[in-house]
Amino acid sequence: MVTRYAHFYAGGSFRPCTGNGELAVIDPTSGQPIGGVIPCSAADVETAVACARTGSDRWATSSLEERTTALTRLRAELEARTDAFATALANEMGCPIWLGKLMQVPMPLKNLDFAIEGVATIQWQERIGNGLVERSAAGVVAAITPWNFPLHQIVAKVAAAIGAGCSVVLKPSEVAPGAAQLFIEAFHACGLPPGVVNLIWGGAGIGHRLVTHPQVDRISFTGSTLVGRRIMAAAAETLKPLTLELGGKSAAVFLDDVDLEAAMPVVVRLSMANSGQACVSQSRLIAPARLVPEIVERFRTAVAGWTIGDPRDEATRLGPVATDSQRQHVRRMIVRAREQGATLLAGGLEAPDGLNDGWYVRPTLFGDVRPDMEIAQHEVFGPVLAVMAYENEEEAERLANSTGYGLSGAVWSRDVAVATAFARKMKTGQVVINGAAQNLATPFGGWGMSGFGRENGRFGIEELLNYRSLHGAAGPMQP
Ligand code: NAD
Repeated sequence: MVTRYAHFYAGGSFRPCTGNGELAVIDPTSGQPIGGVIPCSAADVETAVACARTGSDRWATSSLEERTTALTRLRAELEARTDAFATALANEMGCPIWLGKLMQVPMPLKNLDFAIEGVATIQWQERIGNGLVERSAAGVVAAITPWNFPLHQIVAKVAAAIGAGCSVVLKPSEVAPGAAQLFIEAFHACGLPPGVVNLIWGGAGIGHRLVTHPQVDRISFTGSTLVGRRIMAAAAETLKPLTLELGGKSAAVFLDDVDLEAAMPVVVRLSMANSGQACVSQSRLIAPARLVPEIVERFRTAVAGWTIGDPRDEATRLGPVATDSQRQHVRRMIVRAREQGATLLAGGLEAPDGLNDGWYVRPTLFGDVRPDMEIAQHEVFGPVLAVMAYENEEEAERLANSTGYGLSGAVWSRDVAVATAFARKMKTGQVVINGAAQNLATPFGGWGMSGFGRENGRFGIEELLNYRSLHGAAGPMQP
C-alpha cells in the first residue's frame, strides 16, 4: 500500500500541500518506495506560521489547568494509537514492532506525564522585594525533528510548548513521516484551540525557511551536529534562541570490579537496539584490558539472541538501518575502522544470512580501538560497538572524555559509590550508573558538540519560558 502525506496542518485544519515534487518514503527491508511526502510551498509555511502566531497569542493566556487538560487528552489520544505507531515505525524506519511498543510509544507517554507534573511544579511567579518576576511563554516555536525516535522527539517538543503556553510549527523528518501524521491526527482529535500546534512537510529547504522566519520566536532542533551548526548560523540573523539536541559518541565504562554478567547484556542492548540509531547509543565500551577476551565472548553470545529480520515480525529483535545512505555510512565507518587498525571481532560488512535485500547490518564489534580513530570519534548510528582497553582508571577517564561530544554515558562497578564518583568525572549531560533506567523527569541534553538546552519534564518547559521582571507591580500574584 502506498501512503501519501499530502496535507499540512495549520489553524486546526488539514490543507493540501502546494510545494513541488514528492519525497519518496522507502521500506528499509526492501529498498522499495511505499509512499511519498508532498512538500509544503513557501506560501504554506507562511500560512502555518501565521496560524501559530494567532495560536500563540491565545495559548499564552491559557490557565495551567487548560494546559494540563490538553496534555492529558493528548496522552490518551496517542496511547489509543499505539499499534498504528508501531506499524508505521516498522514500515518506514525498520524499527522492530517489539521496540516500537516497548519504547518508541511508551517513552513519549511518560514524557507527557512528566510535562503534566512540570506545569504544576514550575515557579511561574516569584516576589523579590518590590519586584515580581514572571515566567511567560516564549511565543512561536519552530520544532524540527529527526527520524530515529520520531514520536518521542515530536512529543518532547510539543509537550514542553503546550505546558509553557507556546505554539508550535512542527517540521518532522521526511524519512519516517507516518509517526508525525499519526501524531497530528491525535492532536486534532484533542479539540484544542486552532493554531497551538501546526505541522508542515518538507526537507532541509522548508526547515531553513521555518527557522529563519521573522515570526518564529524560538527554535528547538533535534538532529545531527552538522545540521545543528547550520541552524545555529541561520538563527543568528534574527537572534533566535535555540535548543540543540545533537549527536553523541557515548561510552559505557567498565570499572575494574564490573559484574560482566549483569553489564554485558545491557551494553549490548544499548548499543544495538533500534539498530544503533539512538543519539544516546553506547557506541564505545571502555574496559580493563584483562577483561577484553571475556567481553568479546559475551558479546558474541548476547548478539546470537538478537534475531535479525523483518521488523514487522514480532520475533525480530534487530531490523535494518533506516535509509540507504545510513547503511552506506555505517559500511564506510566499518571499512575505515579496519584501515585505521581496529580489529574486527564480530559482524562486519557481509549482509546477515538470507537478508541481501534491504539495509541490514550485522551486530559488529571492534577491538584495539584508539581515540584517534574515526570509529572512536564520529557517530556511526548503526549496530557497531568499539572496545577501548585501558590499564588504569586515569586512562579510562581520559578515554571516556576523548571525544568532542557529551550527550550520555554509563559506568559499571559493584560499588555504586565508586561508580558515582567516576560518573562525576564524565563530561556528559547524563550518566547511567549500573544500567539504571533513564529517568525522563530529569533534564535531557548534551555538552559540547552534543548541543545545549534541555528537554523533558519541567526542564523542557522552562526552556520555552522568558523572564519578565515587574518593578513595583500592584495587586496579588496570579495563581
Ligand atoms: P538531520 O540533522 O539530517 O535532520 C534532522 C531534521 O532537520 C530533519 O527534519 C531534516 O529535514 C531537518 N533539516 C535538515 N537540514 C536542515 C536545515 N538546513 N535547516 C532546517 N532543518 C533542516 O538528522 P537525522 O539524520 O534525521 O537524525 C539523526 C541525527 O539526529 C543523529 O546525528 C542523532 O544523533 C541525532 N539525534 C539527536 C538526539 C538528541 O536528543 N540529542 C536525538 C535523536 C537523534
